[in-house]
Amino acid sequence: GGARGPAMAEAVMAAQVPPDEEADECLREYRHLLSPDLLAGQVAFITGGGSGIGFRIAEIFMRHGCRTVIASRNLERVTEASKKLVSATGQQCLPLSMDVRQPQTIVAAVDEALKEFERINILINGAAGNFLCPASALSFNAFKTVIDIDTIGTFNTSKVLFEKYFRDHGGVIVNITATLSYRGQALQVHAGAAKAAIDAMTRHLAVEWGPNNIRVNSLAPGPITGTEGFRRLGGKFAEKSSLFDMIPLRRAGNKTEIAHSTLYLASPLSSYVTGTTLVVDGGSWLTSANNFTALLGIASSSA
Ligand code: NAP
Repeated sequence: GGARGPAMAEAVMAAQVPPDEEADECLREYRHLLSPDLLAGQVAFITGGGSGIGFRIAEIFMRHGCRTVIASRNLERVTEASKKLVSATGQQCLPLSMDVRQPQTIVAAVDEALKEFERINILINGAAGNFLCPASALSFNAFKTVIDIDTIGTFNTSKVLFEKYFRDHGGVIVNITATLSYRGQALQVHAGAAKAAIDAMTRHLAVEWGPNNIRVNSLAPGPITGTEGFRRLGGKFAEKSSLFDMIPLRRAGNKTEIAHSTLYLASPLSSYVTGTTLVVDGGSWLTSANNFTALLGIASSSA
């Protein structure tokens, strides 16, 4: 064997980052790190599954034997997404329209899903809305809308799934949150407060629903490439100005990495894990600057 210099070490490290696609497309290549039947026979209900992180979660779950329901407001979007997912994975995927702010639409979607698959084992609460805005410029309604979609939407969907299926059969809930509140991220009081409330909800529901064999956890991503969040919240700017050098792992994450960590939380690999938040951010929140001025620049240029 030849010398294992830094270049080789780097190549080995690089190989540990799973490939991703920038757009809402399925992966061109996928190497299973875990058994392809890890979720065989299971059904996952994924809100926000038609785009970004939610789309990749659906794909990775399907590549591990799971059937999925992807649900959001835009039926055309989830229908297109489901076609791609089915053709890439050969698994079933049911696209449904619902608004997490309207409980009756959730009830209808869950009824439809149960009619189709007769079971739902996993709920991923991924639906959310976000943008950069200083608190002083945030309208009362804008703040309320983010709380309505993120926090109340997560409660509404969890409660419907509990009543319709999880109470009697057990289940797993993964809430997609964020690290924004950990250091009081500038221009993010709305989303930070909304996601912090979801992390609290994760603990409350883990306690109340544990006896029903329901595990409830949060997953908090850092900056993730190829997402609406990344585009809207200054990801491109951070990339260009080398801000990601401040992250301990010195890069943004990708959607496949978030999907892999979600797979862990949704699968029996985490059978004794409940009421916790898994931060998947390369160490970002520990070290990244909370740069008010730079963020203001991004906010005004994207407005
Ligand atoms: P995204 O593609 O915009 O995903 C949000 C999804 O939520 C969309 O598919 C949207 O679909 C759906 N949605 C919005 N409002 C809804 C409503 N009222 N009812 C039902 N569905 C609704 O964004 P993303 O960046 O991938 O984010 C996914 C999750 O990761 C979010 O929870 C986000 O907060 C979290 N996160 C992302 C990052 C990041 O770097 N991207 C970082 C931290 C946390 P419709 O428009 O069809 O409804």
